[in-house]
Amino acid sequence: MSTRNNPLEQLNDGALCAALVKKISRRLSRPIRIMEVCGSHTMAIFRHGLRTLLPKDLTLVSGPGCPVCVTSPGQIDSFIELAAMPDVILTTFGDLYRVPGSEGSLTQAAAQGAAVKIVYSPMEALKLARKQTDKMVVFAGIGFETTTPTVAATIMTAAREEINNFTVLSAHKLMPPALKALFHEDLAVDGLLCPGHVSAIIGTDPYETLTDEFHLPCVVAGFEAVDILQALFMLVRQSEEGRAVVENAYSRVVKAEGNHQALKIMNQVFSPEDCQWRGLGRIPASGLGIRPQYDKFNAAVRLGIKIRDAAEPPGCLCGEVIKGRISPSHCPLFARQCTPMRPVGPCMVSSEGTCAAFYKFQL
Ligand code: SF4
Repeated sequence: MSTRNNPLEQLNDGALCAALVKKISRRLSRPIRIMEVCGSHTMAIFRHGLRTLLPKDLTLVSGPGCPVCVTSPGQIDSFIELAAMPDVILTTFGDLYRVPGSEGSLTQAAAQGAAVKIVYSPMEALKLARKQTDKMVVFAGIGFETTTPTVAATIMTAAREEINNFTVLSAHKLMPPALKALFHEDLAVDGLLCPGHVSAIIGTDPYETLTDEFHLPCVVAGFEAVDILQALFMLVRQSEEGRAVVENAYSRVVKAEGNHQALKIMNQVFSPEDCQWRGLGRIPASGLGIRPQYDKFNAAVRLGIKIRDAAEPPGCLCGEVIKGRISPSHCPLFARQCTPMRPVGPCMVSSEGTCAAFYKFQL
């Protein structure tokens, strides 16, 4: 077999990966569906070619762990509204730039004269605020527990320096409430490949409610091929044995109790509030709002912005993709009206989006 056709030969630890694939195959006695929650896992699985190595009875479906994909159209609309305000510069991560809201994207708003600047971190946005004191610099706050502590630290820095022209519009989200809401919908999933990055902050303890309430095996995984295959083996083993516990296959990074310091900073600045998710609707206490003592840095308060509910793009099935109910190829728009060059939904825009991954690796 040529190297081109055999993904194992291209992997670091190819022999170990081959042994794990064999162990999974031996352990599997029936069809099993595993959800990989995290967009980085979706991309890693495709990049390592793992889907082609796994037995056909093991199906992988993607979950709601791509932060750009779950940002609601109403939240995008609010970012656009801010960018169009006089004397405001809206700063954002690049992934969000092309995501459609209900009436266009930040790219289109920028083309019509709105002030939008791509930044790589919230600190870069704060740096801009120090320079451009005649403008209000707003940071578009999206993402899960992985990114929120950095945003909180930036707000605390701005408070210490008494900066008056830096604010954040928070559309930050919490992963455990969303997973709980998702599994209340009775999804046909036999196990959860839990996100490595989010778990590095929250730890493994929050997944206990999923194992207890839904009898759902949970394993936290890293991002190397070996990490993912090891976690998949552990999930298959639990499922076959009728067990549902939380296991950690990424213990070199993730601790049961998480990262105390990051959680402390996050909780100092943000508190849980109800939040609208694309595809999942409004989920109680699944978002993070800025605490009143930091109102000065809250764009919603300072600039009078209210995040409204808004319609999803017509025909886009991102919600069903995010819930793992369909594969992107089941969306009638996939690779026709919706491509990475002309995306209809966020799952085709984001570098971690499932539709983008299918388009890049499976067409
Ligand atoms: S292919 Fe496009 S329109 Fe269809 S679900 Fe994916 S992003 Fe949405």
